[in-house]
Amino acid sequence: MKYETVIGLEVHVQIKTKTKIFCSCSTEFGARPNENTCPVCLGMPGVLPVLNKRFLESSMRACLATHCTIEPMNRFARKNYFYPDLPKGYQISQFELPLGTNGHININVDGTKKRVGLTRIHMEEDAGKLIHGENLGSPGKSYVDFNRTGVPLCEVVSEPDMRSAEEARAYLNELKSILEYTEVSDCNMEEGSLRCDANVSIRPVGQKEFGTRTELKNLNSFKFVQKAIEYEVDRQTQLLDQGDTVKQETRLYDSDRGETFPMRSKEEAHDYRYFPDPDLVPIMIDEPWVARLRETIPELPEQKRQRFATSYAIPEYDAGVLTSSKPLADYFEQCTTLFPHPKTISNWIMGDLLRELKKDSKDILDCPIPPSALVDMLKLIEAGTISGNIAKGIFEEMYQTQKSAGSIVEEKGLKQITDSSAIEKIVAEVIQANPSQVEELKGGKEKVLGFLVGQVMKASKGKANPGMVNKLLKEQIG
Ligand code: ADP
Ligand code: MG
Ligand code: ZN
Repeated sequence: MKYETVIGLEVHVQIKTKTKIFCSCSTEFGARPNENTCPVCLGMPGVLPVLNKRFLESSMRACLATHCTIEPMNRFARKNYFYPDLPKGYQISQFELPLGTNGHININVDGTKKRVGLTRIHMEEDAGKLIHGENLGSPGKSYVDFNRTGVPLCEVVSEPDMRSAEEARAYLNELKSILEYTEVSDCNMEEGSLRCDANVSIRPVGQKEFGTRTELKNLNSFKFVQKAIEYEVDRQTQLLDQGDTVKQETRLYDSDRGETFPMRSKEEAHDYRYFPDPDLVPIMIDEPWVARLRETIPELPEQKRQRFATSYAIPEYDAGVLTSSKPLADYFEQCTTLFPHPKTISNWIMGDLLRELKKDSKDILDCPIPPSALVDMLKLIEAGTISGNIAKGIFEEMYQTQKSAGSIVEEKGLKQITDSSAIEKIVAEVIQANPSQVEELKGGKEKVLGFLVGQVMKASKGKANPGMVNKLLKEQIG
């Protein structure tokens, strides 16, 4: 039996603000436990929430950047449940009237383009955090930190439009990139500002109805989202193959074991008893307000990707990599203004530069080689001062020491040898040292030429101009 995978994602994004959603406490990460709290976010009786306007506008921008309709009237609702990290006994969220509806995100997996629908984007407050004593050397006790309580979030709910773990990952990458480009969120997964739940089901190929889904929680990296979905698809496939059914339930992903396990079944699911929050007035949004915010939306990743591919005439693949983050795209563009050879620049960025950064887990913003320094090196190659091969080593040294390409070439005497008499001399030595290969070449075995070129390059420590080496070898052997 062949099955098709169906995936819908719910992503919680922390919106970048100085203060919390309904009070003036700081949202700064890393404060001492409970330092960023006040009567409002601690849910004391008699306090009233006041909506953070900056947060509302950033959320509206998130909606606009993902092609959502901004609802002219939306409102907050109380989602009721008990948990020690939720002091009010309810979370302020949105339910029947969310901020944004009916959006989409375009993704591209291995060249295949696809549109993933967004059901809704709604605003809500975050809950606090429990810290269990087992991890602090005091077993049996639990501590609560309310610093996160009231931190502003948007929940982005997708349609069940994805059909593979790769598509889910592409969707997350694109969403993250859009939120970063618009500066709505810094999407820092380590600090919990982007969190994802994945809903997964399978159905026999050709069947119209969706299968029963499970919801996977606790996925704190894109890699784990992909792994958890893959595991879950295998698990559900086995169940259906042996004639069992999938149970609708919430499951957790254990990244150490690479498995999902049940957290709660449908029967245990909460009934949240949503109702409109009487402490907060409905939010009325008129068209001029939306238009004003629309003006602030910058060029988005997809548009930038298209512009890069067409105006710099680089492959779509390159354009995709280079626009994956705005700072990287800026880096590339700065290079092209100094050195108008986009494909050469793209090759060095996608190859050597990103490899070095990845090795150090560094961001392009912390790149030790500024665009002007990279370009200076590329100009040395173009001028024939150094060979492309020597440049690889120079690049690594630039990255490590932040020295300029020019000074490394000086110090190490790496200038390409283009003086033909110097190369002629080495060529003659190589011919003398390899008589049998020279005979083979004369006998028509063309590929021996490559070997001889290699010997000359080696003797010149990589500095001989390869074009000249080829030419002189042919001349001298005749
Ligand atoms: P809940 O409130 O229980 O999370 P929602 O209606 O908000 O339910 O749906 C949550 C997510 O589940 C959405 O992203 C939706 O696309 C996805 N989804 C719904 N049905 C399925 C299914 N059969 N298979 C996979 N995902 C699904
Ligand atoms: Mg859900
Ligand atoms: Zn507060």
